[in-house]
Amino acid sequence: MEYIKLPLGNGQMNGYIIFDKDSKEAAIIDPGYDFKIINKNILDLDLTPKYILLTHSHGDHIGAVEELKDNYKNLKLGINVNEVEMLYRAELNLSSMIQPREISLESDFTFIDGEIIKLGEDEIKVLHIPGHSPGGSGFLIDGHVFVGDSLFKMSIGRTDFYMGDLQVLLTSIKTKLFILDGETIVHPGHGPDTSIAFEIERNPFF
Ligand SMILES: [Zn+2]
Repeated sequence: MEYIKLPLGNGQMNGYIIFDKDSKEAAIIDPGYDFKIINKNILDLDLTPKYILLTHSHGDHIGAVEELKDNYKNLKLGINVNEVEMLYRAELNLSSMIQPREISLESDFTFIDGEIIKLGEDEIKVLHIPGHSPGGSGFLIDGHVFVGDSLFKMSIGRTDFYMGDLQVLLTSIKTKLFILDGETIVHPGHGPDTSIAFEIERNPFF
């Protein structure tokens, strides 16, 4: 697995492109803004985008989904089964507040905890990490985990949005992320990368 980290929306959030370098199949994780930047990276590397995988439905993580889907007809949009309604309802996914327009999206497929998504020869394991939102998900592949807004370097996600829950989030992080190999690199939806071992030792919420 190879990946590119894309600071999007003037650096306010992190989108990612992950891909299998032999088959060139790619998944775009959280295309929050800036279709042109994402697309330039796809074209430069000659990738075949297969999936958009959302860590959750919040407005700052979904802004470029429609343009990507308009340009790549075979691209399939996936989200955790518990977040389908939020993705569709602009007042719940907060796009009406965060983005210049309301965004209402229908997913092409849903996933649950433990599911495997194939990307070329690579396997992405889906982790359900609720608490910041009900269907919050992480994507574990090759010693890297893409966690959206559940865990940040020395911090955790907000829990004051629709269906957020602090206790649920703390439990999710402990039972789904802190059990991973300490060397696993953590790629959050905002801010710098970190590692599981660093967060177990230094995160002030634990
Ligand atoms: Zn969020």
